[in-house]
Amino acid sequence: MDTTAPANAVTPDLRPGDDRVTHRGGCHCRRVRFEVDAPAHLTVLDCNCSICRMTGFLHLIVPATRFRLLAGADALAEYTFNTGVARHRFCRHCGVKAFYVPRSHPDGIDVNVRCLDPGTVASMHVDAFDDADRDAATAALAHLSRA
Ligand SMILES: [Zn+2]
Repeated sequence: MDTTAPANAVTPDLRPGDDRVTHRGGCHCRRVRFEVDAPAHLTVLDCNCSICRMTGFLHLIVPATRFRLLAGADALAEYTFNTGVARHRFCRHCGVKAFYVPRSHPDGIDVNVRCLDPGTVASMHVDAFDDADRDAATAALAHLSRA
């Protein structure tokens, strides 16, 4: 048993009465497929940095333990720039970036909510992530990748 947290601890991504569900998703050609455990009522981030502006990525950041790559490891290519911390993984067949390792949370996984299958998202609230104020924006969200 994990004794580091009380059994009834409220995890920060869950509202009272909300349950975590398993969302499924992947890339356009379906070679890359994954599962992610997250609330049905999602709060996601819209980032205005140089790459997210271009791709329209909507960020759902979770601890790495709540993400499972089901298929497509061999289809993933990786793109890095600037600090090299963020590892932008995209399908080399269809070009879609369905998830990646974000610079703000190198211990977590950042899923593109636009790549989730329909049916499991009950609602979605979008918050802005301001890259121009990246340090403060990152500090405010440090909890997202903690299990
Ligand atoms: Zn693909």
